[in-house]
Amino acid sequence: MPLLTEFKHRFGRYALSVVEWIVAFKRSTERLLPGTWRIKPEGNIALERLTDRFPRYLCAPQGGVACGEGWYPVVWDLCTAIEALEHLGMPRVTGVHAEERLGGLFLRAASSSFIVRELTREAELKAAATCEECGNPGSLKIGHGFAKTLCSEHGSARQRPRQRTSTPSANLSTTPKLVFLDTEFTDLEYPQLISIGLVSDSGERFYAELSNGWSPEGCSAFVREHILPQLTAGEFLQERFFAGRRLADWLAEFGQPVRVVTDAPGYDWVLMADLLEGNLPENLHSEPLAFYCESFPELVPLLQEARQKAFADAPAHHALNDAEALREAWEVMTSNLHPAILDQYLRL
Ligand SMILES: [Zn+2]
Repeated sequence: MPLLTEFKHRFGRYALSVVEWIVAFKRSTERLLPGTWRIKPEGNIALERLTDRFPRYLCAPQGGVACGEGWYPVVWDLCTAIEALEHLGMPRVTGVHAEERLGGLFLRAASSSFIVRELTREAELKAAATCEECGNPGSLKIGHGFAKTLCSEHGSARQRPRQRTSTPSANLSTTPKLVFLDTEFTDLEYPQLISIGLVSDSGERFYAELSNGWSPEGCSAFVREHILPQLTAGEFLQERFFAGRRLADWLAEFGQPVRVVTDAPGYDWVLMADLLEGNLPENLHSEPLAFYCESFPELVPLLQEARQKAFADAPAHHALNDAEALREAWEVMTSNLHPAILDQYLRL
């Protein structure tokens, strides 16, 4: 760590504990003052109460609050700390924006102080572990059409029930290599695997087309029209058993935990596991990571753009091209997510 960063880090820690102490002191003295409007209420805080207490930070246009009330106490505490810093002689902060975006709380304070930056970062991390609706402990919950930090109660009201088939073994707890998967198959009702493509987050590729285990007669009209003409054949055309062995070797060769990302776990993951004949390599995470673009409605145009760009070079409905497009969409999503939220996404 460079010396200046090291110093800032250490000083930042020290300064934060001083701020904490001052905030506690301010709270206790506020209780002695007449009128209760300055004191942080227990439980839920109404928005007017929050903005009335910190109008200079939170009122438009210089500031604003656009998040669920479960996070109001986090914003309140941040503003109290900033106010305390101003009392210590720090230049005035002219505004604070608190905004929910893609499941995370983004805080922007108009200040160049790195202590304020540290404080806002800490508050964002706190929000990432707090239900946005009620303020109880929470974590990222994700599904079709939403990504929110919620407690289990508010989460289960929105989330489809998840079944853990098995707990990942201890050596898979480290951040895994992500591998983006797509498959083409005969028909939605009786899917038989035709081709399979995987692209890792560092660009390694696997692709195979199966010479047996399916027939053109079993294909739906859509598949006959859009998918069969895209098949590459040549060296990629392989006997099913051989392709499965080759895939298992390819996954094992990473020599580190690997996790599959798919936008259709019900098909892609099931067909891949079937190809591996239940012999999942030891380093393969026992559950795929489901990536539903629709979980992030605000991102949909960006994600569509990323996919279209990917398909401009390589047409869709080809398993390897689709896996590559999935990877590009994932990169767009992760570069827009709050790091604390991404971290939780990867642990789902
Ligand atoms: Zn809740």
